[in-house]
Amino acid sequence: MDCIFCKILQGEIPSYKIYEDDYVYAFLDITQGTKGHTLVIPKEHVENIYDLTEELAENIFRVIPKLAKALKTSFNPIGLNIVNNNDKPLQSVFHFHLHLIPRYENDGMELSTINNYGKTSDKSFKDIVKTIKKNIR
Ligand code: 5GP
Ligand code: ZN
Repeated sequence: MDCIFCKILQGEIPSYKIYEDDYVYAFLDITQGTKGHTLVIPKEHVENIYDLTEELAENIFRVIPKLAKALKTSFNPIGLNIVNNNDKPLQSVFHFHLHLIPRYENDGMELSTINNYGKTSDKSFKDIVKTIKKNIR
């Protein structure tokens, strides 16, 4: 399969590994958007969040707190973002991965998500809830 992360898992492409267990592999992102920028991937190839089983999700997310704590202890960031991109054009590697991104003063990234406070009516909130709840399976 032509998947760069599967090739990393198979050792065909080198990586800076920080953690591995039966289900999960974590390594430094090649771009190091910030110091310690880490990718956490399942060993099983799944494209993105829509293909994760609950079991696989459990196995991946189980290790996130200890990796996040290791980054915090190692580099004393002011904060840490967990990012997961799904589908083009956000996603560029189609093997599910979580970005752990330690944040530092003046690191060039936005500090928070877009804030549209006050622009959503009560009716819109209720419509949005209704739509989402209808689609939870
Ligand atoms: P996304 O799919 O969420 O946009 O991001 C994919 C990430 O994979 C990017 O941050 C990119 O730097 C990283 N990446 C792509 N190819 C490699 C690689 O060969 N080695 C490592 N360590 N990271 C990679
Ligand atoms: Zn893969």
